[in-house]
Amino acid sequence: MLAISRMKTVLNPKFSPLFPHLPKTKAAYFAHLSRTSEPTICNNPIRNANHIHRKSTSLLSSSFFCSTQKRNLQMEASRPPSGEIHVIVGPMFAGKTSTLLRRIQLESGSGRSVAIIKSSKDTRYGLDSVVTHDGMKSPCWALKNLSSFKQKLGIEAYEQVDVIGIDEAQFFEDLYDFCREAADHDGKIVIVAGLDGNYLRKSFGSILDIIPLADSVTKLTARCEICGKRAFFTLRKTEETQVELIGGADVYMPVCRHHYVSGQVAVEAARHVLESSNLECGSYA
Ligand SMILES: [Zn+2]
Repeated sequence: MLAISRMKTVLNPKFSPLFPHLPKTKAAYFAHLSRTSEPTICNNPIRNANHIHRKSTSLLSSSFFCSTQKRNLQMEASRPPSGEIHVIVGPMFAGKTSTLLRRIQLESGSGRSVAIIKSSKDTRYGLDSVVTHDGMKSPCWALKNLSSFKQKLGIEAYEQVDVIGIDEAQFFEDLYDFCREAADHDGKIVIVAGLDGNYLRKSFGSILDIIPLADSVTKLTARCEICGKRAFFTLRKTEETQVELIGGADVYMPVCRHHYVSGQVAVEAARHVLESSNLECGSYA
């Protein structure tokens, strides 16, 4: 498959550099599990020979714990390793997609199978690639909704995927359910990038809904296009008022708080002038 790549690691043969606490493959995970979950209580002989009754009780309970632990281990081994969810948010031009692609490349370099999904609503760079503002590029699946991913990829191919990257996640209405299912039940590492706020600084789509599900949240900043300070917000430079208006630097600019407020005032004033001149034109028609 075009969107899935598997590369042998040269960085670290055993662990991912991004998630060092987890072994990189399912087989390694199970080996890790059986190593770290040894029923140590079996190896602790009861040393107090003067307490025969206690000794026999302890032996009974230790054998009980041994069998229980073995059973638990067997049950654990039959489950896939638990997944993770990492969220990257920020305004436009903050490097969210670049950060997502770098993390995906690290995972791929560690020997994990990766897949990237983006919204089919975003056609700025074609539908077969995720492209960053600074020119990084990666093949992807362009989908209308995330629930179709498993079916489009095929069940077998889906099971082979270790890491799923989701770009422009604010456009997916089923983001919460997909992430929960993928991480909790399917053992996937899900890395999500998108806008936390729209041009009015209101929550965009359902990306904020997944924060309670997430292992980590990273908020990136851009540079204010007017003063060069850190930019937290996205200012729409045009008069359109619909929430979803896909565009680049021709429509949006990253701004600091001060220039967001003054910019909004200027855009609002321009909109009013435009509306009143349209009204006047209409009254003469
Ligand atoms: Zn500024």
